[in-house]
Amino acid sequence: MKTLKQYFQEAVSGKWAIGHFNFSTADQLKAFVEAAAEVKSPIMVGTSEGEADFVGREQAVALVKSYQNEGYTVFLNADHHKSWETIKAAIDTGYDTVLIDASKLPFEENIELTKRVVEYAKSINPEILVEGELGYLRGSSEVQEKIEISQADYTKPEEAADFVARTGVDRLAVVFGNIHGIVTEQEEHLDIGHLKKIVQAVPETPLVLHGASGLPADEIKMAIQNGIANVHINTELRVAYHDTLHEELEKEPKETTPYKYLKPSYEEMKRMIKKYLELFGSVGKI
Ligand SMILES: [Zn+2]
Repeated sequence: MKTLKQYFQEAVSGKWAIGHFNFSTADQLKAFVEAAAEVKSPIMVGTSEGEADFVGREQAVALVKSYQNEGYTVFLNADHHKSWETIKAAIDTGYDTVLIDASKLPFEENIELTKRVVEYAKSINPEILVEGELGYLRGSSEVQEKIEISQADYTKPEEAADFVARTGVDRLAVVFGNIHGIVTEQEEHLDIGHLKKIVQAVPETPLVLHGASGLPADEIKMAIQNGIANVHINTELRVAYHDTLHEELEKEPKETTPYKYLKPSYEEMKRMIKKYLELFGSVGKI
């Protein structure tokens, strides 16, 4: 199996993106890796701090390793880990890659914590990739009404260059109109012109688009054509998983066998993942 670093190099030069999907349960993870394998697409799966607490870090690592051992091309990411303690726990447990999200801290403190994580991760295993985050990404991974979007929150290109040079991160999460989650009372739009300025500042660094749920497909595509190499989807999957399961439980109220009533939500996850991987251009890249 190629390393995640190799896949990122290929994604950057080939102008496609690696899909990143969050899971809280083993049936979601199973749907993600099986869907990706069916279309020969490398994927990243992630647990946030909350998701990691629920699944268990040891368990998340063991589950993903079990798929890797069977030949699946899947990499485990510690998504938006915000403290030294939680991210160290993820590195120590054997996550393939981590996102240290210190973006809400002042710039110098963000650099300091991110640099510490890069140094620690590489001392444990040089293959562990570290993502940093710069810019103010608003919203949370749920359905919200309205989120204020301001250019002041965007990742500043000159700061991005400084940040990458001083921290040594392997990839960078950026803000250019994206927000976390889905909003119902407004339209979400990406500022591709701003993305281009960030790319010019850090042309060698794979850039990550968070909060792609709720964005029009053509804007996601445009972002990938202009330098995004990694796309995170969480909320849309959560909503579809919840709604499909809810429908099934209402339809078959007497069915108590989990592998039966979980089947439709599992199938829906697979269908959605394939749709995203197609959009990201990663189909057939294994
Ligand atoms: Zn995110």
